[in-house]
Amino acid sequence: MRFPLPSRSFSRRHHEKGKKNETLWQGSFQILQDETTDSFGDFPRRVQLGDVLGITPTHKILSSANGIVEQLKENNQNYFKLTQDGSLESKHNFIEPKLDANGFLNLIEKNGVYSLDYHKTALWNYLTEFAKGEENELVLSSHTNRISPNFTKILQSDYPNEVANLDNFLSSIFPNKKIHNFLDPTKNKITGRYKYPLGIPDYFLQKELQKNIYGIDKSDKGRIFFLGGETIWHLIRCLYYDIPFTKRHLAIECVDGNGRIDGRERYFLISNGQSFRFLDKIFFKKYKYLSLNSFDQPSRIMKRSDEYFYNIYEEGHLILSVNHPRQNRELPCTECNDCDAICPTQADPQALIHNRSEFYIESCIECGLCTFYCPSGIDFRSKIKDLKYPNIEQTNKGLTANA
Ligand code: SF4
Ligand code: SF4
Repeated sequence: MRFPLPSRSFSRRHHEKGKKNETLWQGSFQILQDETTDSFGDFPRRVQLGDVLGITPTHKILSSANGIVEQLKENNQNYFKLTQDGSLESKHNFIEPKLDANGFLNLIEKNGVYSLDYHKTALWNYLTEFAKGEENELVLSSHTNRISPNFTKILQSDYPNEVANLDNFLSSIFPNKKIHNFLDPTKNKITGRYKYPLGIPDYFLQKELQKNIYGIDKSDKGRIFFLGGETIWHLIRCLYYDIPFTKRHLAIECVDGNGRIDGRERYFLISNGQSFRFLDKIFFKKYKYLSLNSFDQPSRIMKRSDEYFYNIYEEGHLILSVNHPRQNRELPCTECNDCDAICPTQADPQALIHNRSEFYIESCIECGLCTFYCPSGIDFRSKIKDLKYPNIEQTNKGLTANA
């Protein structure tokens, strides 16, 4: 999806804050509206950081800074244009939370905190559902479905005391609920065993608790609620510092001219609607192509001349590449058995290739690990989706054919 072109009046500054790479941008922001967005209030108007600009069925869109916001339409795309003239960050004063369950839910609703795990929804909606069911259980884990950054490290370096206290706080406001706490690496040696991609919530839950993301089975949907490391980082900022959800860690991976990935961990904490132009001086002399989201998910390839504005609800990764990435071709299966060996539910994904045995479709939790590990680049993810959701696939095919 293309965002509209920005205004020309940008200025920028970069700074390092503590151990975090944080990039601040002064100028204009372009915050996408989609067809489901209801804009909120009059435009143009002055707004403060965290004020509500729009509401969608899944979340609230908040102002990324103090400034003047207006609504514009360009290239058939609606967006909020925010011209910043004040702070991008509120003050970080620690507040001891003295809240009951309703007060807690209201606070995360006010700050627009979003679930960044498998449940793309406002955290307020997600935890309200959790609070309703007597049998519901909550998993707190530093694992995420992201290759980078490492949120186990980030949580321990940024908010060690808050991480240590979160479990007690949640237990006090949800006294009858079972809470599984995998946040403290000193108490839970297992955290080291689940490095990406094995740390993705589906795999982690299946291996550690023998439960999938929906509960014991999908008909029991909602029994297990999962908060991963990235969501918890934002929850802590909201709960202990009253900081609205307007920024996110954007991890940057660099691929050289020979297709090798530079393994250094790089990430920036950037604001919703911020232009990727801030990367110009740092990376773009060398890297001419970029794409969003991680290596194991398809994504549109863009040139560095394309303008793009960060959408914190959709993207966590930016891949920069010297050359235009080539389309991955599937090679013949070598029968190495890696796909079956990694499958956490013994669903037998190899059966999808050879038809010599049965693929246990109901067991498959769609963790994507068979695709990730297959050395022949076989796209199990699409094959499984075709089997599980044939109607959705047909709709997509219809759209493609009509395009
Ligand atoms: S991992 Fe790929 S190459 Fe190996 S057995 Fe499975 S499908 Fe075949
Ligand atoms: S078949 Fe593949 S996607 Fe399904 S559970 Fe096994 S490894 Fe995960």
